[in-house]
Amino acid sequence: MQEEAQVNNIAIIGAGLGGLACAIALRKLGYEVQVYEKARDFRPVGGGFGLLPNGLKCLDAIEPGILSLIKNSACEISQTVLKNNQGETIRTNKSARYKDKYGLPLITVWWWHLQQILASKVPENNIHLNHRCIGFTQDDNGVDIYFDGEKKLRADLLIGADGINSAVRETLFKDGKARYLGSMSWRAVIKCDQQLLNPGELGFVKSDREFMYLLNVGDGHFSWLYRQLLLDFSLSPNLDAAKSQVLSKIAHWGKPLQQLVEMTPSERILEAPICDRPPLDTWSTGRVTLLGDAAHPMAPALGQGANSTFEDVCELAWCLTHYKNISEALTNYERRRIKRTRIIQNRSAEGEMDYYKTEEEKSPSRVLQQLQMSSEEFQNWILSYQPPTI
Ligand SMILES: Cc1cc2nc3c(=O)[nH]c(=O)nc-3n(C[C@H](O)[C@H](O)[C@H](O)COP(=O)(O)OP(=O)(O)OC[C@H]3O[C@@H](n4cnc5c(N)ncnc54)[C@H](O)[C@@H]3O)c2cc1C
Repeated sequence: MQEEAQVNNIAIIGAGLGGLACAIALRKLGYEVQVYEKARDFRPVGGGFGLLPNGLKCLDAIEPGILSLIKNSACEISQTVLKNNQGETIRTNKSARYKDKYGLPLITVWWWHLQQILASKVPENNIHLNHRCIGFTQDDNGVDIYFDGEKKLRADLLIGADGINSAVRETLFKDGKARYLGSMSWRAVIKCDQQLLNPGELGFVKSDREFMYLLNVGDGHFSWLYRQLLLDFSLSPNLDAAKSQVLSKIAHWGKPLQQLVEMTPSERILEAPICDRPPLDTWSTGRVTLLGDAAHPMAPALGQGANSTFEDVCELAWCLTHYKNISEALTNYERRRIKRTRIIQNRSAEGEMDYYKTEEEKSPSRVLQQLQMSSEEFQNWILSYQPPTI
């Protein structure tokens, strides 16, 4: 092991899942960490999503014991269910194989619940809401970070965990707008009694050029995620209009599915175009680096957005304590991450379009062909990831 990178005071931009997990990991290693978030408060938004064995292993390494807390307000999936757009079951599949193969199950959780659990592990005084970062400058000794309202702060290291439209990434690389992948999404979580899924089930409703995921996310909460192939998109003028739009798109679907959307308060709906960005060759300059969606935004097809972000956290934490200066630490962080996340980004973009194709329309994956891997080998490669000990 080499001498430790000389850093004391670390600023993280973004209190999403990546920024908060990173704050927990780095505080444990003894760093002084401040998190700056543009939102004025933590609102109950977002949809349900899957925590997979690779991400769960990282969360356990970041905060031992956190998995039992997450499991208490999430759902361990034992079966997946394929339905038609009338809500009728076509096929079921046991999904206990994740636990058997990789030691941990598939867990579905509400994004906001996980954000709250992670935030509860960071002292309130270290999270600064209502701080929108607008850029930074750096010199040999530190980084000056600029926020809306002419606020300025200085740190030894700046980590941009500010998502797909990262201000830190824009200042570093000026790579403009995210790339729209031709697919629109609407998602929400509601508390409801529903008859569509049994506890421990995850549902997928397949229709023509559209689909919906149905997720139990624990605590009596249920999440729907509707997606449609739309080559051009425009955002609804307000959330009532977004809800009406989904209802009109699924007007031909079965009543139980329509009712889920009908009973959803508009303010709970998150409408978003599915976007990514082409992979970068580098994520860092001087004392500034990126993490999570800011570094490698990807389509949700493989469910790796959050899971691969937790991998970044473990690797960055490990590099900061194992290399003698920031430059070596960040170079090695990139060396350990960029190749892997590039592959996951590329395969996720391919997979996004596969959702809308019939089996006959699908062509073999170019990414898997280049890697000379079968789908199963590829899944093993992703889900068997072992984080370094931090
Ligand atoms: C509100 C919200 C809901 C989401 N819901 C889901 C979901 O249901 N399912 C799913 O799979 N993924 C969801 N995601 C995305 C998912 O969290 C990410 O793909 C993944 O977890 C990587 O996380 P991240 O921390 O890198 O980025 P993000 O989760 O996007 O977090 C970025 C954070 O940075 C903040 N931020 C952005 N710009 C600035 C700025 N200039 N200054 C300060 N702060 C800034 C954002 O407000 C956000 O809190 C959601 C993201 C957000 C922000």
